[in-house]
Amino acid sequence: MGGIVVVGGGQAGASLVAKLRALGFDGAVTLVCDEPVPPYQRPPLSKKYLLGEMEVERLYLRPESYYAEEGITLLTGDPATGIDRDAKTVTLASGAVLSYDQLALTTGSRPRALPATIGGVLPGVHVVRTLADIDTMAPAVREGAQALIVGGGYIGLEAAAVARQRGMDVTLVEMAPRILQRVAAEATSDYFRALHTAQGVRIIEGMGLERLTGEDRVTGAILSDGTKLPADLVIVGIGILPDTRLAETAGLTLENGIAVDTEGRTSDPAIWAAGDCASFPWRGVQMRLESVQNAIDQAECVAENMLGAGKGYDPHPWFWSDQYDVKLQIAGLGAGHDHVAVRPGDRDGAVSHWYYAGGKLLAVDAMNDPRAYMVGKRLIEAGKSPDPAKIGDPATDLKALLNP
Ligand code: ADP
Repeated sequence: MGGIVVVGGGQAGASLVAKLRALGFDGAVTLVCDEPVPPYQRPPLSKKYLLGEMEVERLYLRPESYYAEEGITLLTGDPATGIDRDAKTVTLASGAVLSYDQLALTTGSRPRALPATIGGVLPGVHVVRTLADIDTMAPAVREGAQALIVGGGYIGLEAAAVARQRGMDVTLVEMAPRILQRVAAEATSDYFRALHTAQGVRIIEGMGLERLTGEDRVTGAILSDGTKLPADLVIVGIGILPDTRLAETAGLTLENGIAVDTEGRTSDPAIWAAGDCASFPWRGVQMRLESVQNAIDQAECVAENMLGAGKGYDPHPWFWSDQYDVKLQIAGLGAGHDHVAVRPGDRDGAVSHWYYAGGKLLAVDAMNDPRAYMVGKRLIEAGKSPDPAKIGDPATDLKALLNP
């Protein structure tokens, strides 16, 4: 009996194997990790861990002993290199061959890199994804040095905040007309631009990067208008790509990631996928969500379905970001909105942005306003859409909206 093999030791893989055991599955379970460490949390990597406020062991999702105690074979530092779907085997870089009855791919995503032709692989140019990425970058994050951040999504903005908190001189370049354009409304972009500017970060929007400069290591950048910027350290946060390499070589159907059905099954009935790498049917499209919460929920749903539950995945999109002393919480997906109601919060810097389309509440961005987030999330999940004028009126009792 081959049991269950899970390839990919990120949040989704770790959640999936744990859920299998929690559900009482007592067959063989193997978790294949390419990195040399047990599964760990990524969000604190570029924040508390980089700031030196968190030990590496505290990043681990479970202590190493957990896997042995639960009879889960944890293989680290040995990436899967191929799948033989007929023989139902997975080959690893070490040459090991694992048999499976059912296989799950939780291969996650990889950061998009700047092309090597514009200096993207010069020493001193970093991405933010793995423990190794952060360990390599950490010595260069030092007071007085110049940091250039490429990309004004959440990754770039979080990196800018940490670099600034470490006393670096920070410039952020965003190609689109505004930071966060892909994921947030103008009001949210404005909030974070003001926050970073007040902290002394220089934000340049609507500006491409011509190339990075330097011989043996990066020393600066030339922007598309010819501006030259010095840089001791470059952090690139220009989005992530689902890691579909293994699925592709195995001939599985891809569509914006590894395509799965509502239960999480790929085009091969013995192979499942979950997390950042997987796209699932949602409101007429193959949707992919890049978030911790999706990795956990989808992986747990797949674990149940591998054991025969036949359950459709119903995502409840939820994200967060920490920058300086601001905690942003996002409920729902704001794409396609036509109106944003702004609601001031109770304390300084607290505000929430409520996204509507045709009068329907889609999403809420809550900055330092956990109550707005909590109420917004519950309203969205209940399919309720309060009048945006009421939301914008500080006299409205938010909680009362839950039980009109
Ligand atoms: P992430 O998860 O890395 O933050 P996003 O896709 O949300 O990913 O944000 C990446 C940002 O980087 C986008 O706002 C995008 O416009 C910007 N970007 C992409 N390529 C470049 C580039 N070459 N120079 C500057 N900004 C870029």
